[in-house]
Amino acid sequence: MAMPQATMELRPLGNTGLKVSAVGFGASPLGSVFGPVAEADAVATVREAFRLGINFFDTSPYYGGTLSEKMLGKALKALQVPRSDYIVATKCGRYKEGFDFSAERVTKSIDESLERLQLDYVDILHCHDIEFGSLDQIVSETIPALQKLKQEGKTRFIGITGLPLDIFTYVLDRVPPGTVDVILSYCHYGVNDSTVLDLLPYLKSKGVGVISASPLSMGLLTEQGPPEWHPASPELKSACKAAVAHCKSKDKKITKLALQYSLANKEISSVLVGMSSVSQVEENVAAVTELDGLGIDQETLSEVEAILEPVKNLTWPSGIQQN
Ligand code: NAD
Repeated sequence: MAMPQATMELRPLGNTGLKVSAVGFGASPLGSVFGPVAEADAVATVREAFRLGINFFDTSPYYGGTLSEKMLGKALKALQVPRSDYIVATKCGRYKEGFDFSAERVTKSIDESLERLQLDYVDILHCHDIEFGSLDQIVSETIPALQKLKQEGKTRFIGITGLPLDIFTYVLDRVPPGTVDVILSYCHYGVNDSTVLDLLPYLKSKGVGVISASPLSMGLLTEQGPPEWHPASPELKSACKAAVAHCKSKDKKITKLALQYSLANKEISSVLVGMSSVSQVEENVAAVTELDGLGIDQETLSEVEAILEPVKNLTWPSGIQQN
């Protein structure tokens, strides 16, 4: 296959030495979690993403109960490019069956993921949604198990993900420097919620790379609307719906505006957007190119921000009570 056509901006990811595309490919939709996706479409979507310069792909055994990993594996194989041309992150500890952050489970988990992805190693292995486990177990058991996997060459780097922001400082304050290479935060750096900003200086001081996911707030900021399982309150859902309707009435795309808002902050290494069609890839990549050229549509952004003002930074509970 030909080399990537476009020159998507690559950004350094903390101290890892990796250079990830500003737009990263969120593969949860390939697990049909936002609606059914045919295998041929999944393969074509990944192919187009890579062709347009997206080099970073994020999945998890949890997405679609392993379906996302399998689809991504097939699609990456179909690219027929050297393994070093793309960066793959998967996760451990969260499964369709529930959470298990034990050393035994995560050690087995990586082998299962590698088989489904048809890879010899992943670039990043994240502990997935750690607020649902004991954070002390993450520090004392899960991360040491992942360090062993790193030594064995099954993952190059270690990450942690989750919704509440204080989980990141809790863990990073308790592990030796350089143990956790990256964090993945979601739904906290977009037009309706930008609370991850407060954490950026701390993460920078630790040399930890920052990945921000869900710039469209897991579908809240799309014309299609959120999936049925979306955890936002009715108040947040209806404010986002109003913002979507406002953009539509002006013949503007809220997805473009929302993605550009997240991309504009270069301290965030990659913004992961979930994509399941070639046209979404094309639209989202065009949003980056346009941001570099014309900049963001400031007028519409101000109007959308005014509509979302009453719900700004409103989130939802996630996880278990920590002792
Ligand atoms: P998102 O905010 O990226 O929204 C995805 C939805 O928007 C999907 O329905 C997608 O089809 C749609 N979409 C994308 N581009 C569009 C366009 N141009 N026009 C119209 N609709 C468009 O939410 P997400 O997928 O949940 O998040 C992105 C990725 O980040 C995930 O796929 C996953 O890889 C990662 N993520 C990780 C965690 C975690 O680790 N805890 C949590 C959330 C997301």
